[in-house]
Amino acid sequence: GMNVNGKNHLSCITRVSELSQPIVIKPLPGLPIIKDLIIDMALFYSQYKIVEPYLQTSDLDPNHEHLQSPEQRALLDGSYECILCGCCSTACPSFWWNPNQFAGPDALLAAQRFVVDSRDIKHIDRITQLDNPNTVFRCRHIQNCTDACPKGLNPSRAIQELKSIMV
Ligand code: SF4
Repeated sequence: GMNVNGKNHLSCITRVSELSQPIVIKPLPGLPIIKDLIIDMALFYSQYKIVEPYLQTSDLDPNHEHLQSPEQRALLDGSYECILCGCCSTACPSFWWNPNQFAGPDALLAAQRFVVDSRDIKHIDRITQLDNPNTVFRCRHIQNCTDACPKGLNPSRAIQELKSIMV
């Protein structure tokens, strides 16, 4: 992830020929710079970790699959594809303002992904954990996250869905 001509991009798939000149490249904004284009993503990952982004089931037997119907599986489309590039959270003013507190759009996208996963048994715990001022309600629906995502995902919509579920 890099900021190219004022917008966050995944640089490995950004075509130089499609950019306006002159091309201005900067590190992703909002996180400490280590050197040149390298940012320290420790805070980004620690926020991601808070939402416990892994399947939690009552059945710990690893020898069989956890089955879903096609409809249940389809609910995960648009969230599991996240590659943790950081383009969304580092485009988010709420994250710039409170990086130590606001989970960030990528983490909330992951939270939504497990809240709607039919196999996960921690739905209520996950929703309860999100019921505080520094998660979904810190989102101001600016939608920079969705605009920046190189995977075409929609963290903003996922956050709004979490709000609806909570209500
Ligand atoms: Fe990157 Fe998109 Fe995942 Fe954000 S939601 S970390 S922009 S892939």
